[in-house]
Amino acid sequence: MRRERAFQGLQCTECHTTYPKGEILQKCPKCNGLLDTIINPEILSEISKDNLGPTPSMWKYQAFLPVDEKDRIVSAGEGDTPLRKLRSFYGNVWVKDETKNPTGTFKDRGASLAVTALSSSGVKEIILSSEGNAGCSFALYSHIADLACRVFLPQQVNPAKVELSQKLGAKITLVDGTIADAGRRTEALAKSEGSYNASTFVTPYRHDGKGTMALEICEQLDWRVPDYVVYPVGGGVGLVGMWKMFSILEKIGWVKTRPRFVAVQPTGCAPVVKAYQSKRDDVDEWKNPQTIAFGLRIPKPLAGKWILRCLRESDGIAMSVTDEEIRKSMGQALKDEGLLLEPSSAATIAALHHLYREKMIDRSAEVVLIATGSGLKTLEQF
Ligand SMILES: *Cc1c(COP(=O)(O)O)cnc(C)c1O
Ligand SMILES: [Zn+2]
Repeated sequence: MRRERAFQGLQCTECHTTYPKGEILQKCPKCNGLLDTIINPEILSEISKDNLGPTPSMWKYQAFLPVDEKDRIVSAGEGDTPLRKLRSFYGNVWVKDETKNPTGTFKDRGASLAVTALSSSGVKEIILSSEGNAGCSFALYSHIADLACRVFLPQQVNPAKVELSQKLGAKITLVDGTIADAGRRTEALAKSEGSYNASTFVTPYRHDGKGTMALEICEQLDWRVPDYVVYPVGGGVGLVGMWKMFSILEKIGWVKTRPRFVAVQPTGCAPVVKAYQSKRDDVDEWKNPQTIAFGLRIPKPLAGKWILRCLRESDGIAMSVTDEEIRKSMGQALKDEGLLLEPSSAATIAALHHLYREKMIDRSAEVVLIATGSGLKTLEQF
């Protein structure tokens, strides 16, 4: 029996114009706002959560994703990562271990989905700006799907990320300045060459991929929703994507509630924390960002308004941690739990110490930390 797809098209988050799913779009052609995919929960409510199939990757949840029957799935076994209890905290803490992904970070989920959607629509060349990990992920999936991939990175980047991207066949350009400068170079070249810009939220096909973490977490907790999800926010792709999927699960009745988000940023680049704490509805650019957590060194996330909306809806908490605390947490995670994390990822552990110490969350509450990336690519920062 052929079931209708839940994926119905795209919609602008600003002017709400909708677009059919066949069009290859980046931002809204009308107002330059960010596009979201339309996933219809009513159609999903016809499937049973006991009948998802054994696919050992995030593609088990294909029905929730913006792809079509005819699309060729570009997969390297991303997702289906362990949810593991941490022993060294006196709380009820789980870690979603995204270091187990093919290139060592959860960026693989977004890249697998985006390259699937784009290559199926006939895109042959993608270009993106990255702090390093997205470059590795897009290099891998582009290689598998036979797309040309070009990545613009800021000069200050972990060397292993450059090397891995190059070995996977991507063309790398290092740019003076921050990711914002790399983003401007990317945009200019995409325009002049007509290549597809797959940068964070320029393409609408990445956040649902990271959203599959929410689906897996609920399944791994036997369809219980954790009280808190602690997430290190850079461009906010994972936060927006997970909030969307938690909301869909609640709508179709697979779970009863949604979690509260804790958004974590480093004190040297905390534009989302600042905006949320001062109750703003958009994020101002952070001047002179400085942190060892390169994945979080995003001075002005494009999806600022969207991130803040999700945080407010989840009655979330936003907090910043120092580089010193991050460094200490990297050592603790490795020695006490055998978790080799990169700084951006260890920020969640640093945050958890604050949350307990300052009694912002109770030790009996169920907490899931997202361990976003492996420290193998950042060994020089230990
Ligand atoms: C990209 C990245 C982040 C931030 O993710 P967003 O979804 O852009 O907020 C956090 N940790 C690591 C290791 C990353 O690579
Ligand atoms: Zn628009």
